[in-house]
Amino acid sequence: MENMEELRAAIKGKKTLVFGPPGCGKGNRSKDLEALGLVHVSSGIALRAKVRDDPDSELSKKAVDFMKRGELVPDDIVVPIIMEHLNRDECRKNGFVLDGFPRTKDQADVLFSQVGIDLVLYLDVPHKFLLYGIVEGNRRLCVDCATGYSDFDPPRKEGVCDKCAGKLIKRTDDNVKTVENRLKLYEEQTKLFLRDIEIKATVEILPITVSDEEVIDDKYLKKLKGRVYWVQTDQGSKARMLNLEGMKKRLYNLLAETFIVPAKRD
Ligand SMILES: [Zn+2]
Repeated sequence: MENMEELRAAIKGKKTLVFGPPGCGKGNRSKDLEALGLVHVSSGIALRAKVRDDPDSELSKKAVDFMKRGELVPDDIVVPIIMEHLNRDECRKNGFVLDGFPRTKDQADVLFSQVGIDLVLYLDVPHKFLLYGIVEGNRRLCVDCATGYSDFDPPRKEGVCDKCAGKLIKRTDDNVKTVENRLKLYEEQTKLFLRDIEIKATVEILPITVSDEEVIDDKYLKKLKGRVYWVQTDQGSKARMLNLEGMKKRLYNLLAETFIVPAKRD
């Protein structure tokens, strides 16, 4: 069974968090949900919107100083900007999908106390695939909408985002050593972080785990039963509603397409 309208209705208004290691596809999965009506929010998106729409505010001026110097905008500036963005009318009305934030427990505390989250999608993807996509795939990200591309999934025109015509950039820290460090940091923090989210108990965590073929066994499928899952298909940003009946092979294929790009890895 699949029904786009049902899925669209099921997520409408949901305050959604996409969570997972660097390179797991948070940005692109967020785009899938955006195509279904949620507003895609990342720290970069919120920062640029604030600076554009409210350039004379203190926060914008401070943020611009850091951005001009190419420095990371500190929490005391970026966190309130993101919270403000999540409270915009369009986010309240349609729901949002928050991507790449929070990264620390302090940020999570602010998010949960000021905005709240209804749904957490946890993308658990093994490291070898992450490294492969980011480093060997020569990952590029759109500066405007955060869509990711790689040599395995290139844009139609090099340097230009298919979705919004934004400029594609390569992160300077997308090399083996720093990516491994980022993964290690993520790994050290993530368990505490997920546990913390669970303790808050107001959200349902939908884990999407792809470690190898064996993962998609009957036990795993039982866990999926009755839940709404979304995946990217070969036709780009298209989400589908999946359930147990007759979906095993299809589910695996879809997950494989989604996360285990390039399939030829040994
Ligand atoms: Zn774009």
